[in-house]
Amino acid sequence: MTELNLILLGPPGAGKGTQGERLTSAQPLEYVVTGEILRAAVRERSELGLKAKGFMDAGELVPDELVIDLILERVRGEAASDGFVLDGFPRTIAQGEALDAALAQLGRDLNGALLIEVPDEEIVRRLSGRRVSQSGRVYHVEFDPPKVEGKDDVDGTDLIQRDDDKPDTIRKRLSVYHAQTAPLIGYYEERGLLHRFDGTLGVDEVADHVAKTVSTLRLEDDV
Ligand code: ADP
Ligand code: ADP
Repeated sequence: MTELNLILLGPPGAGKGTQGERLTSAQPLEYVVTGEILRAAVRERSELGLKAKGFMDAGELVPDELVIDLILERVRGEAASDGFVLDGFPRTIAQGEALDAALAQLGRDLNGALLIEVPDEEIVRRLSGRRVSQSGRVYHVEFDPPKVEGKDDVDGTDLIQRDDDKPDTIRKRLSVYHAQTAPLIGYYEERGLLHRFDGTLGVDEVADHVAKTVSTLRLEDDV
């Protein structure tokens, strides 16, 4: 089977993490979650974390020069040699162009950009109820609750609410999405790589649609 290289696009709270987790537990693809990598750097107080924290707390994007090499290193890594799913990268046209250049250098292609669409009104509801485990597993108090309230299904540790999932920061992140990230939709549409998903459907239904598209992409790639 040939490699499959995918990106997940969509506003904050669209369900990228939820779908990315499912997709990569069903397929042997390296899952690269940009937000988690940055949050780990903040927790470790690394040089990158110290630089990134202020932007993240404010709901702004971390500057391209800090993010691009960090993610491309993962794309070039051995673990991604059979394919990858990038969640939360690219988020700017400059990041998209950097990814293209890196893949071209490796003689590899992007196979699809999966766009999960959810209107702004719904996003605020989604993110206000989002809870995450230490390891980044995603839940929703109402729409995707854990088996035991407040605890991770896998390791039983306490779930937390992210600092940036507060109403003012959510609105800031949405405006940043429309201004800086949404232009990537046209960028991938022009290249015939864009696949749109109605993210207002239930988690399982969205997962079915994503899985169908991904198997079509595999078939196309194998012929
Ligand atoms: P969400 O899951 O809500 O879409 P993420 O966890 O992906 O949010 O991102 C959290 C924060 O991390 C963003 O608000 C931004 O500050 C930073 N971030 C994540 N991905 C990128 C990126 N590709 N470029 C710049 N900043 C990013
Ligand atoms: P993103 O990674 O795009 O920011 P998440 O996967 O973290 O999005 O989802 C944001 C919140 O919405 C989480 O609390 C998640 O449980 C919930 N969620 C995800 N997909 C759906 C869906 N299809 N319907 C309802 N809630 C959802």
